[in-house]
Amino acid sequence: MSRKCHPQTLASNAGVGTNSEFQAIAPPLYLGVNYRWNRSDEKPQYDYGRSGNPTRATLECALADLEGAAGCAVTASGMAAIHLVLCLLQPGDTIIAPHDCYGGTQRLLNAYAQNGRLKVDFVDQTNLSAVEAALAKGAKMLFLETPSNPLLRITDITACTALAAKTNTLVVADNTFLSPALQNPLALGCDIVVHSTTKLINGHSDVIGGAVLAKTTELAEQLAWWANTTGVTGAPFDSYQTLRGLRTLFARVQQQQHSAGEFVEALLGRPEIKRIHYPGLPTHPGHEIAKQQQQGFGSMLSVEFADQVNVIEVLAQLRVFTIAESLGGFESLVCIPATMTHAAMPPEARQKAGISDRLVRFSIGLEHVDDLIHDLFGALDGALA
Ligand code: PLP
Repeated sequence: MSRKCHPQTLASNAGVGTNSEFQAIAPPLYLGVNYRWNRSDEKPQYDYGRSGNPTRATLECALADLEGAAGCAVTASGMAAIHLVLCLLQPGDTIIAPHDCYGGTQRLLNAYAQNGRLKVDFVDQTNLSAVEAALAKGAKMLFLETPSNPLLRITDITACTALAAKTNTLVVADNTFLSPALQNPLALGCDIVVHSTTKLINGHSDVIGGAVLAKTTELAEQLAWWANTTGVTGAPFDSYQTLRGLRTLFARVQQQQHSAGEFVEALLGRPEIKRIHYPGLPTHPGHEIAKQQQQGFGSMLSVEFADQVNVIEVLAQLRVFTIAESLGGFESLVCIPATMTHAAMPPEARQKAGISDRLVRFSIGLEHVDDLIHDLFGALDGALA
């Protein structure tokens, strides 16, 4: 009897046992750029590496399986994935994006708005009336990012896709913060999912990569055509590494989100903390929606420190956390979004989105959580001393 495997099995076994030449368990890395044609009128399965590569295809199949997609295009970065999705729009089309999305996404959309390619409507997507009003103005694409970066705001994906269906608007979700292990936007009605695979999916902080996944074959074919035409496809070695990272995705995510929950618990009593943004807290405004549409609360959180705390000094004293951009890796990272990940955002836009200079974002990794708590508490005590 054939039965569909659990996603954990799909991730860990992706491509295993497919090597017919030597029966290598781990699928080999194909670096070759070109492939031989037996006859000039018989196109082989792969002919040129930008258009298709067996190693990249193995990763694409695995990600498509995990997101329940009809097809996937693996790209050179998360930004390349987002750029690829924008290729589906016509000049002058409007895209609705979250007012607090990743700074690089804001920069790309603002640049295209400034040079007249697209119109952009940045909206607080936790406010469904605002989303509905923006859709009514004729937007062609609704771009979601939930949980959002860095404030962990939760957008109701099902409600947004229902609104977008009324205006026939394509819905794209950036699923980077949770990965397919914790959220499947296509199952919630989205048309396209994008990932920065640089983050949780690879998880080892040694590859920049991205992926676009489409619900229908038609959309997947359009995206594959654009990926080849614009040349944003990912490199074979990057795909090989990412596939290796993907095998342990579920185990890593489970451990990291468990630690994130304990880290938040420990922080709750600290007087230096004004507010914790973590969807796992029952006080988080998106907690109930997160419970419905996510399979966990993830390993990301941000903290608003009280006025008396010198956040730059606190971060400087951390020894287990590393001050760095990026997220979702095996190592715990900390950053100040206003001056780091979201520095490209105009200060007024940051203020409007609620990203203050005292907001600190934490990405919880695989260290023992007691060491992380001890590290932050020590830095807070040291900075106040
Ligand atoms: N989307 C989100 C939510 C991100 O956080 C990032 C990067 O931090 C990106 C997209 C862009 O990904 P990349 O850095 O792989 O281009």
